[in-house]
Amino acid sequence: MRKIQNYINGTLCPPESGSYLPNIQPFTGEVMSEIPDSDENDVEKAVQAARRAFPAWSLTPAEKRADILEKIAAGIEARLDFLAELEMLDSGKPLWLTSEVDIPRGAANFRFFSRAVSQFASESHFMETGAINYTLRKPIGVVGCISPWNLPLYLFTWKIAPALAAGNCVVAKPSELTPETAAVLAEICIEAGLPPGVLNIVHGTGARAGNAIVEHTEIKAISFTGGTKTGEMIARSAAPRFKKLSLELGGKNPAIIWKDVNLDEVVPQIRRLAFTNQGQICLCGSRILVHADIYEAFKEKFIQAVNEIQVGDPRDASNFMGALISEAHLEKIVFYTNLAMEEGGILLTGGKRKVLTGEAAGGYYFEPTVFEGLNQTSRTNTEEIFGPVVTLQKFASEEEAVQLSNATGYGLAATLWTNDLKLAHRLAEQVEVGIFWVNCWLLRDLRTPFGGVKNSGVGREGGWEALRFFTEPKNVCIKYR
Ligand code: NAD
Repeated sequence: MRKIQNYINGTLCPPESGSYLPNIQPFTGEVMSEIPDSDENDVEKAVQAARRAFPAWSLTPAEKRADILEKIAAGIEARLDFLAELEMLDSGKPLWLTSEVDIPRGAANFRFFSRAVSQFASESHFMETGAINYTLRKPIGVVGCISPWNLPLYLFTWKIAPALAAGNCVVAKPSELTPETAAVLAEICIEAGLPPGVLNIVHGTGARAGNAIVEHTEIKAISFTGGTKTGEMIARSAAPRFKKLSLELGGKNPAIIWKDVNLDEVVPQIRRLAFTNQGQICLCGSRILVHADIYEAFKEKFIQAVNEIQVGDPRDASNFMGALISEAHLEKIVFYTNLAMEEGGILLTGGKRKVLTGEAAGGYYFEPTVFEGLNQTSRTNTEEIFGPVVTLQKFASEEEAVQLSNATGYGLAATLWTNDLKLAHRLAEQVEVGIFWVNCWLLRDLRTPFGGVKNSGVGREGGWEALRFFTEPKNVCIKYR
């Protein structure tokens, strides 16, 4: 069996313990490779390599660092087809999605921050009494980046690129469920001439490798994307160690459909935001809130559109949906579908595992599923399912749309579909989220602040926010009169 290796101090190396874990390919349920079951010894090695690399990397001129990041972006692009296929095999998501979104975005993250860092400036504050303050923004040192399985290379690089651009050295851990493209990134970094120890990639579970990163006293900041429960554990462990924390967590995002929309235009968009990547994107809409005046008409067209979604082998371009990430996740989706029925939900379509034949027979497929008739306080409507299960709810007024939108503990993203500009501004102001899209979804400008409120996280990524997170400001005050 092919063995993936850690990337520590510029070289590919086995875990200190010699133990490996199976890496399962979701579209067949077969083992595709093995990954290091790294522990605190591997993390220690990575931290020491990063510490040694830090003085030189942090003093390397930003343009020189940017050149290397640009080479990494080019290295990803040069392997676009290979990486897209590997990501598909490793995650179960369709090849069209990994080719159009995941891998191009991995390259874009490095390119964006290689350019952004050249424009990153700090402030100065003049005092009329005869003094000047200026802010030095210096890299933090060794930082930890921990990412999830749903957008593997995309989110891994979204953290690593700004951390490196700002002059930090990184110990990073991809999800144990999707290690493949991170392993190729290590090879690309070697080829691009990234100095040894600047980036270290440690594979393994959250409980061992992840926890060792969070607990390590020499890692001064943690950038984490994943589940809210995990975020809570990380915060508990990092807080008494006074680490800087950025937590991008779960969501239960509303899609608000006002009564003035053209349903033929909007229905395909709602289908896309609900079921892209099998509903496994933190930004997917899972609560579809529809104005009462158009509820029945929307429902009919939406269910018809959902029934046209093809679920199957992710290699086949005609399949909009591929496999779920794992058997455990499939079981979670089954659990929530049963729970929705117990809670009194009316199943409008889907609700079952889909079993394929041939090579994909052992894969984890689930039909796109829509419920209605569930109370806003039901578990189905308040807990993150993170799969192809959405609910329809009816609202009769602007106030009710806001109230329903804000009725969960989460606050990551929302979409609003309307032609009423003033309504759009009012709702944008009142809905409690970090990201509000009007008449679009997943339209990303990498300069914008990205993150959630309430249980969806703390801190923001993207643009200056990321470069500020990965630097420590120091005020210098000079009296000259
Ligand atoms: P997860 O929390 O189980 O795991 C995320 C990462 O954390 C993995 O690398 C995992 O190994 C690691 N980890 C787990 N326990 C750890 C611990 N105790 N200490 C340190 N590291 C630990 O999440 P997941 O199932 O991989 O991803 C799905 C979740 O991620 C969903 O809740 C989704 O909403 C969220 N997500 C959020 C965003 C966002 O930007 N807000 C983006 C994508 C995904």
